[in-house]
Amino acid sequence: MSIAGIKGMNDILPGEVETWQFLEKTAREVFRTYGFSEIRVPVVEKTELFCRSIGETTDIVEKEMYSFEDRSGNSISLRPEGTAPVMRALVQHKLYNLDSINKLYYSGPMFRYERPQKGRYRQFHQLGAEVVGVDDPKVDAQVLAMLDQFFQEAGIADVELQINSLGCPECRPAYRDLLVAYLEVRLESLCDDCKRRYRTNPLRALDCKSTGCKAATAEAPSVLAHLCCGCDTHFGKVRGYLDGMNIPYAVNDRMVRGLDYYTKTTFEMVTTRLGSQNAVAAGGRYDGLVKQIGGPALSGIGFAMGLERLALLKGDEAVVRDRPEIFLAGLGEAASDRSFLLMQELQRQGLRAEMDFEGRSLKSQMRRADKLGARYVLILGEDELSRGGAELRDMDAATQEDVQLDQLLSVMIERCGLVRRDKA
Ligand code: ATP
Ligand code: MG
Repeated sequence: MSIAGIKGMNDILPGEVETWQFLEKTAREVFRTYGFSEIRVPVVEKTELFCRSIGETTDIVEKEMYSFEDRSGNSISLRPEGTAPVMRALVQHKLYNLDSINKLYYSGPMFRYERPQKGRYRQFHQLGAEVVGVDDPKVDAQVLAMLDQFFQEAGIADVELQINSLGCPECRPAYRDLLVAYLEVRLESLCDDCKRRYRTNPLRALDCKSTGCKAATAEAPSVLAHLCCGCDTHFGKVRGYLDGMNIPYAVNDRMVRGLDYYTKTTFEMVTTRLGSQNAVAAGGRYDGLVKQIGGPALSGIGFAMGLERLALLKGDEAVVRDRPEIFLAGLGEAASDRSFLLMQELQRQGLRAEMDFEGRSLKSQMRRADKLGARYVLILGEDELSRGGAELRDMDAATQEDVQLDQLLSVMIERCGLVRRDKA
């Protein structure tokens, strides 16, 4: 019996992976422009890290974490998100001593035990960025500008940037109390989840998708009307800078995030094209987080984008698969051996070259070259071999010419431009 993969954990196959590589490359280039460096952190952390940072009463910690005991009885968890591990690393290595501002990005798999559906999986991938050490609303605007630029350069349209402010420890408690009182008299209409957590996490009811909660919270007080002076000014400045940079956005005062550490500016990139999996990227400020996990009182802001959702949006218009520049069709053993050496010479120069290893007929080799989309085919038979030449067919132009085998490399370099793309 064959063994299948685990539910909700996907293979990313050739044909799909090109889109992923394109998205990752685009992100790297854009993030670099803004001065971000990559950080790589482990896939597992102590469970305590996520409980303390994301919050005990959040969906993620309550019911979505993959937590295990290791062989020594320690509780460890597959990371459900990237911000907490990155901040753990920042504190552990005291990166703030090397530079008072840290701009970091990461990319990799995250794990949440959710009900798998389109755009929602148990292993999924995030590309995220964080700035630690600046309060200035310019940084909020800059992070949003970077996100906007990524979507433009990735060619993903039909997304809307929505922003909100969730206040700070000074103003949020009073707003929270107000909301608890508002919900208390409407408990009957709330869904079971929101009913259960209306005291511990009342804000969640605001963006709950259930019809009852939507109706019940329609007239709920707006967080934006209850910001303290500092938060209100901060949010006003963020909007002002976005306006100044001509970055389109909508204010959505119902948007709350599912992680407890967010303060002040929060945001999502939303789309209407993925059903209820409508958030493609999400993030916000987390001014208390670094201190909460044992570091100094440094403020931070960041976001994470879901690569599966980005790839779904990018869809079929993606990113052409690499085609071989040349396919060497050798006929007979001697020609096949020579083709093999030529192929290696071409590959060493960075040209994508392929050949047949099964001694097939010219017709079936041509069919394979066609299937691979080869740009040129070198047809090398025994007669040609004996005179040191071969026929080079241009598959796009449907023309052919004779080439000398000792000239093949330079002819191909001239045709295809060059070479060793990774060094270019
Ligand atoms: P959602 O509201 O869709 O559950 P979220 O608020 O849980 O998203 P975040 O924790 O903020 O999402 O993660 C940021 C991004 O990661 C999301 O916008 C989404 O693109 C992606 N993401 C989150 N959970 C999943 C998942 N289970 N499968 C695929 N992508 C996901
Ligand atoms: Mg979620």
